[in-house]
Amino acid sequence: MYVVLLGPPGVGKGTQGVFLTTRPDWTRIVTGDLLRDSVASDSILGLEAEKYMIQGRLVPDELIVALVRDHLINRQSDANLVFDGFPRTKLQASELTKMLELLGKSMDTVVVLEAEDQALVERISGRRSCPDCKAIYNIHTSPPEKSGVCDNDDSVLIHRTDDDPETVASRLEVYRSETEPVIRYYEEIGSRVCRVDGNKDICEVRTRITQALALEKI
Ligand code: AMP
Repeated sequence: MYVVLLGPPGVGKGTQGVFLTTRPDWTRIVTGDLLRDSVASDSILGLEAEKYMIQGRLVPDELIVALVRDHLINRQSDANLVFDGFPRTKLQASELTKMLELLGKSMDTVVVLEAEDQALVERISGRRSCPDCKAIYNIHTSPPEKSGVCDNDDSVLIHRTDDDPETVASRLEVYRSETEPVIRYYEEIGSRVCRVDGNKDICEVRTRITQALALEKI
């Protein structure tokens, strides 16, 4: 099954994507993580992408489509794949449709997590993440056992530089103008689109996604 997780920054795509991929045979393509790894390794892509990321803007379509194409080629035998953070524009979505067609696949379900901007801004202010295993915490609602340190691997947690309030405001604007049309794109091509209230608690959202994808509860 191929699934897209769509939703504004801070709505919980990362957390829910991790839940889905704790199942055997489920993997994720997370463009934000791939880009942050490229930035950390000072690659040419990373240097180019960082200029956009620090301003809360989208990395140009041609760069991101090429990045996803490379990863998809390596993942084409994966039975279940979750796209998290991609596609974020209509052009990325139509390119993804073409890539999947070439592989003889198609998108099964688009899960849209929804929440109001005010709630998202509050959530993002408490967000901390592990630079190594990518686990996500929230200092208010889901803190790590030991303050500031990842439960999985003891790495020091970071507050992403693009999670500061001004950059978040611009990322939310970009989501509404560039990424919301992706939902309409999938509706127009007849994909199954499931909207899930991202304001509910993490477990409730997890259950609703599990139901939307008709998966067994684990
Ligand atoms: P995220 O972790 O998904 O919030 O992504 C962090 C940043 O990476 C975004 O604000 C964008 O600058 C960039 N980014 C991630 N995915 C994409 C994408 N599909 N298209 C363009 N830029 C992206």
